[in-house]
Amino acid sequence: MRMPAASSTRSGREAVVVGSGPNGLVAALVLARAGWAVTVLEAASKPGGGMRTEELTLPGVMHDVCSAIHPLAVGSPAFRELTSGDKTLADHGLEWVHPEVPLAHPLDGGRAAILERDVNTTAEGLGTDAGAYRHLFGPLVEAGFDLTDGLLSPFTIPPRHPLTLARYGMNGIRGAERVARRRFETDEAKALFAGLSGHSILPLDAPATAGYGLMLGVLAHLVGWPMARGGSRRIGDALVGLLADAGGTVTCDTTVRSLAELPAADAILFDVTPRQLLAIAGDALPARYRKSLARFRYGPGVFKLDWALDGPIPWTNPDVARAATVHLGGTLDEIVVSEAAPHAGQHAEKPYVLLAQQSLFDTDRAPAGTHTAWAYCHVPNGSTVDMTDRIEAQVERFAPGFRDRVIARHAMGTADIERHDANYIGGDINGGSGDLRQFVARPTLGLHPWRTPLDNVYLCSSSTPPGGGVHGMCGWHAAHEVLRRHH
Ligand SMILES: Cc1cc2nc3c(=O)[nH]c(=O)nc-3n(C[C@H](O)[C@H](O)[C@H](O)COP(=O)(O)OP(=O)(O)OC[C@H]3O[C@@H](n4cnc5c(N)ncnc54)[C@H](O)[C@@H]3O)c2cc1C
Repeated sequence: MRMPAASSTRSGREAVVVGSGPNGLVAALVLARAGWAVTVLEAASKPGGGMRTEELTLPGVMHDVCSAIHPLAVGSPAFRELTSGDKTLADHGLEWVHPEVPLAHPLDGGRAAILERDVNTTAEGLGTDAGAYRHLFGPLVEAGFDLTDGLLSPFTIPPRHPLTLARYGMNGIRGAERVARRRFETDEAKALFAGLSGHSILPLDAPATAGYGLMLGVLAHLVGWPMARGGSRRIGDALVGLLADAGGTVTCDTTVRSLAELPAADAILFDVTPRQLLAIAGDALPARYRKSLARFRYGPGVFKLDWALDGPIPWTNPDVARAATVHLGGTLDEIVVSEAAPHAGQHAEKPYVLLAQQSLFDTDRAPAGTHTAWAYCHVPNGSTVDMTDRIEAQVERFAPGFRDRVIARHAMGTADIERHDANYIGGDINGGSGDLRQFVARPTLGLHPWRTPLDNVYLCSSSTPPGGGVHGMCGWHAAHEVLRRHH
C-alpha cells in the first residue's frame, strides 16, 4: 500500500510522521510551523496515542485509556510554547482542571500525607519532617523551570543552569529508598517520597529513582498535577487542531509496516519504539545499529482498571478527596517490596497502585451522580495475571465500602494495553526501561539519539530522551534536530 504524500508548502520540504502520540504530534507541529508539509500516519482509528479517552464502562462515562494526569505536559517547554502565541491549545478547546491539591497518599489508621501546591503548607503537614521536606524541595522549587527544563533536555545538550542541576543531582542520582530513609523520620514523608519515586517503574533502591520523585514533586509545587477537562483526548484533539492550522494532516487507520510503503520525504519521524522500528526499517539499517536497537530493554508492564461508580470513593481520611491523584501502597517499606516484585518476575500481593479520581473535579466525565476512577499497578512485562482483586483490595483498605460503589469495571492486562497502542510493548508504558543506563543511552549511546544511520529517518518516541510521559519533548527535540540538519 502506498501512503498519502504531503503537499508542498513554503519551505518546499516534506515530512512524514509515523504515529500520533504526543511526541509524534509535537514533532509534526514544530515542522509544520517551520513551513514543512507534514503528514501524520496513525495506526489507530483515532489520533492521540496515549492521550485517548473512551466510554470503557458505560455509555456517557468517559475514561482515560492511558494517561490521565499531566504535570509533565503543563511543565514542558514544548507545551508552554503551544500555550502562548497567536493560536494556542486553549483555542482548540484544551482546558486544564486543577484539583484542590496535587496528590494524596493515605496510610492505615486514617492517616494521609497530602502534597499541597505550596512547599511550606506541605511541610507543615509532615510534622517532625517539616524542615527536612523544606530543605529537600524548597531550593529545587525555587529554581523553577530552570531545573525542570534542564531535566526534560537530553544530557547531550549542555545544561543552561549547571549549578541547579548539580543540586538536584546530589540526591536525584541516588536510590529513592535511601534518600527517604536518610532524610525523613515520619511514615508520611517517607511514603510520600516512595510513591512519587514509584513512577520510575524501577526498584526503589535503583540509582536515580530519587530523581523521578524529586522531579514530580517539584512539578506538583511549580505547575500542579492537573487533568484535561473532558479527558486526555482533548490534549490530542488540540494538538491535531493546531497542526491543521499549520497545514498538517493526520490520516488514521494506517499502520506502517515497511519503509517502502512510505512516500518520499525529506524526513520520516517514527513515533515508535526500537522493536517496531526494527520490524519496519530493519533491512535498511546497518547491522551495528540494528544490534544496538535489539539490545534496548523494555521495563515492567501495567495492569489497569477503570471503574464507573455510583458515588465518590469513600476515603477514611476525607482529605484524600481533595486530590485527583492518590498513591495507594502504604508505607515506604511496603512500596519498596511492591516495586521490586515486577523486576523479579513476580506480582506484588499488595501492589503500589496509582489512582486518579477525575470526576470529582471534572463534571464532563460522567452523568450527574456517577463517578469515574482510573488505576493501575506495575506487573512483569507481558504478565497475564489478573490483578483486579489485589488493586481493589488496596482501594478498599483506605476506603472501606469502595467495592459497593462499583457499577461497572473495565480491566486491561498487558496484552490489552499493547493492542490499544503498539508502542506499549508487553505493557511497558514508558517506551523502554528508564533506568540510569537507558536514561543515558536512549535508544542507543550517541550525541544525536533521535537520528538513525539513515539520512532521512528519525526516532521521536518516548524511547528517545527525555523518555516517558506526555510532555512532547522527545518529538520536540527530534523535530529541532531535523530542522538543524536541513537548515
Ligand atoms: C495506563 C497508562 C497510564 C499512563 N499515565 C500517564 C499519566 O498519567 N501522565 C503521563 O504523562 N503519562 C502517562 N502515561 C504515559 C504516556 O501515555 C506515554 O509516555 C506517552 O503517550 C508516550 O508518547 P509517544 O508519543 O512517545 O507514544 P504514544 O503516545 O504511545 O503514541 C504512539 C502512536 O504511534 C502509533 N503507532 C505505533 N506503531 C505504528 C505504526 N506501525 N504505524 C502507524 N502508527 C503507529 C500508535 O497507535 C500511537 O498512536 C500512561 C500510559 C499508560 C498506558
